[in-house]
Amino acid sequence: MAVLRDGVVETAAVGSEGFIGFEAVLGGGAAANRALVQLSGSASRVSVKALRAAMQSQPAIRDLLLRYMRYFLTQILQSAACSALHEVEERCARWLLMAHDRAGTDSFNLTQEFLAETLGVHRPTVTIVARTMQQAGLIRYSRGAITIMDRKGLEEAACECYGIVRRALAEILPRGAERSSRKKG
Ligand SMILES: [Zn+2]
Repeated sequence: MAVLRDGVVETAAVGSEGFIGFEAVLGGGAAANRALVQLSGSASRVSVKALRAAMQSQPAIRDLLLRYMRYFLTQILQSAACSALHEVEERCARWLLMAHDRAGTDSFNLTQEFLAETLGVHRPTVTIVARTMQQAGLIRYSRGAITIMDRKGLEEAACECYGIVRRALAEILPRGAERSSRKKG
């Protein structure tokens, strides 16, 4: 997320296909952005020292990390264009699809406040968008939990950015694309 004086806005999403802490890979400095956990799950952590040692001794690891960063850059550039040009309904559908890809399940916890913050809009706007999506049978929203009811319909409701970023992941990191779309049960 990018932190501004007016608040925070989501710029990219990371799931089991990726990692955060690019500064460690690039050679130094403190993190320029804030990372926020949105969905429950587990993550692994590695020290900068151990990561750099692994990158030096194993070129394949370095190559993989750099490839992921190439994909991540595509995602950020697309998000910048998306925020400037696309309607909140399309952006909301896109974000729900990105969350769905990474959640590994059709239902996940997500408050409307949080969704509003992610999209950089006021909460009443999200309430209206969520209600419209629910009425269209795309999602079910109950007590802060979202269930994806019609994935294909949600893809049709999303802007082109979802498909562009998804194809970039499949091209740059074919196995990462598999991982992020793997569903439990
Ligand atoms: Zn878009």
